[in-house]
Parts: sequence; C-alpha cells; structure tokens
Amino acid sequence: MSASLHHNSDYRARHGLRSVINVSGTMTSLGASIMHEDAIAAMAEIAPQWVEMDDLQRRASAVISRLTGGEAGFVTACCAAGISMSIAGAMTGTDFLAIEKLPDRTCSLKNEVILQLGHAVNYGAPVDQSIRLAGGKVVLAGTATQVMPYHIESAINENTAALLFVVSHHTVQFGQVSLEQVAEICRPRGVPVIVDAASEYDLRGFLDRGADIVIYSGHKFLSGPTSGIVAGRKDLVRAAYLQNKGIGRGMKVGKESIAGVMAALEAWEKRDHDGIRARETAALDLWQKTVNALPGLHATILPDPTHNPLDRLEVVVSPDSGFTATGLAKALAAGEPPIVVRDHEAELGFFFLDPCNLHPGEAEVVADALTRVMNAPRPDDAMALPRHTTAKALRWPD
Ligand SMILES: *Cc1c(COP(=O)(O)O)cnc(C)c1O
Repeated sequence: MSASLHHNSDYRARHGLRSVINVSGTMTSLGASIMHEDAIAAMAEIAPQWVEMDDLQRRASAVISRLTGGEAGFVTACCAAGISMSIAGAMTGTDFLAIEKLPDRTCSLKNEVILQLGHAVNYGAPVDQSIRLAGGKVVLAGTATQVMPYHIESAINENTAALLFVVSHHTVQFGQVSLEQVAEICRPRGVPVIVDAASEYDLRGFLDRGADIVIYSGHKFLSGPTSGIVAGRKDLVRAAYLQNKGIGRGMKVGKESIAGVMAALEAWEKRDHDGIRARETAALDLWQKTVNALPGLHATILPDPTHNPLDRLEVVVSPDSGFTATGLAKALAAGEPPIVVRDHEAELGFFFLDPCNLHPGEAEVVADALTRVMNAPRPDDAMALPRHTTAKALRWPD
C-alpha cells in the first residue's frame, strides 16, 4: 500500500505499531479521530510559547459560546473529566474550601446525582464513576428499560446536586425520560441538568432543549486533540472551571490542547459537511455492493441511533458464510492492513462499518479485504463467539 494513504506511517513503522484502518468510529482505543490540520498547526504553533492560561481559557470560552450558544465554556482533559468537574461544580459552587476538600464532602454540600438506569453505561469506563470521582453519590432512577417521570421526581430531595443525562448509542434507546421532560422536572426544583454529549455533532440542541451544562469530547466528531469541552450556564461553568484548583488538577489540559480545540471548533464552522457526507455515502455504497455479493453476508445502510448526520453499514453475518460476526471481525483485524470494525454488538450476529474516519483510498482497501477474507480458507476461530475477557488487558505491557 502506498505510504501516502497513511499520514504518520513512518512514525508507526519506526515504533513497530500496526497501520490499522479504522472503520469502527471515533474510538478512544484507536486514537479517537483523525485530527484536523488546523488543530495540528495551532498546537505546534503554541507549543514553544508562554501564555496566560486563564486568558487562553477565556478565549476558548468565547469560541465555545459562539458555537454552542452557552453563556460560557472551558476546555478540560476529556469529556469524562468535564463530567466530574461539572458535577463537582454543581456540588461546591464557588466555595474554595469545599473545592479543596472534594471528594470528601463538607456537611453543607449537596452531593446526590440522579442518573436514569438506562443511562448507566460504560464508554470505556463506567459513567457513574465520573460522578463518584467528584464525591457525588449516584442515585439511580427507574429500571434499565423503563424510567418514568415519578422515578425522577421522587429521587429529588434537598441533597440533590444535579441530574446527569447521557446521550449515546450505548444507552438504552427506549423507555428513558427525554431531555425535555427531565428539564421540565428539574428546572422548577433548581436541579441543574448536565448532559454528556461526548460523541454528538449537535453543538446547540442540548442547551436549547433544557440542559444547563453540556459536555463534548474535543477528539471525536470535532477532530480536535484529546480534550473535553464544557459549555452552558455561566455560574455552573465557572464553578466547574474552579475545580482546576481541586480534583480537576489531575485532569489538567495543556495550552496545546486548548489551542487545538479552539482551532477545531473554528474549522467546524467552516467544515464542508455536505462534501464529507457525500464521501461517506460513496464508501457505504461501495461496501454495501461488495458485501451483498458475498454469500452469507447481508448489508444494510442504517442511520446513527442518536441522530448524528451519519450512516453506517450493518453487516449481518449468517453462519452459512462460515463465520460468526466475531470471527469475521477477528479475521479482518488480523489481516494486512488490519481493519477494525465496530463490533460491540457482535453477539447479535452483526457488526458495522463506520465511514467517518477514512483517509483517501481506504474505503477501497476495506472492500478488497472483505472479498479477500471471504474467499480465503476459514481461520481456526472463524466461528468464535464473543468472549468477555480481561486476559489481554492483564498481559499489558507484554
Ligand atoms: C466517549 C464518551 C465519553 C468519554 O469521553 P472522553 O472524552 O474520551 O473522556 C463519555 N460519554 C460518552 C457517551 C462517550 O461516548
């Protein structure tokens, strides 16, 4: 394969790292996303310079406000950090002593945080841990598949600091109380609604629909450096920002990432969303045609479950193909180049191909690999079922 397909292929070769092709989405475990060139340039430009960090964050606040419609904003290490800092801010307000005491609770603090049970997901770490790290006590509302307004109403008391609302394909996609309804319940009771929108395109909709704070990952659809963006009501954003003098210190963001996110947000305003969509659609069409010509596989283009303007190809793997969904995903990941598909639902007999992180030419490489693997002898683990195992993690760094 030509080196021009792979930015940094030199780096990876030099360090003995595999040149993976990512068709799984904006995935932390693969380096999150392809960074926008403006973000890379801004990071390099600021790297050797001194800067007054509160002023840089003030500038970031202005850019974040412009794009989100929030009154203020700041940049932190990642979305998970933004959740912990926002929860902490809802607990402490601007009480500096309380900020230093967290995660221990001073007796005056509200510390309960409501979470719908269908939102208690794991995005690489459990979302409720982001609450507990701040010293918050998680109060789960309802059941996994049914939450009613009365579950939330009855969970609110004088110790309630906030409600955390998670927007993600990971959450249960039905039976939860909507953001609008949650806001209707919380607002008159003075309970801030904090929205985890880590992997969402829509930078305005959640604040418009009643969130007091919304948090995004800078490194997912925005194509910025690894970072988190907190936006919303000024008093809450300020209280969250002040956590940099407390628990936020362990979540420190550097000048280069703040500059990188600001550049990524500015690039977002100018991004050719239609052109990107057209390239993604071309990749999906190619893959669908390729897959549907292969015996035992069936492909359908499906919209994103949380309504991001993005489609993915669902590849249903029938046993007639000589593979399980897991077995085929493993064979693609073991190939040259390794291709990583979106297989977190593989026990249901399908995986997805996600077109949003491709370099030019990679869609064709993926199509060729599918045909090649399907025409090759079946590997030993072709019929593998998904196994939840920690064995590989426990071998690291070996
Ligand atoms: C990715 C993700 C996170 C974590 O975001 P980081 O910025 O990587 O910390 C949190 N919540 C949801 C819903 C996510 O998808």
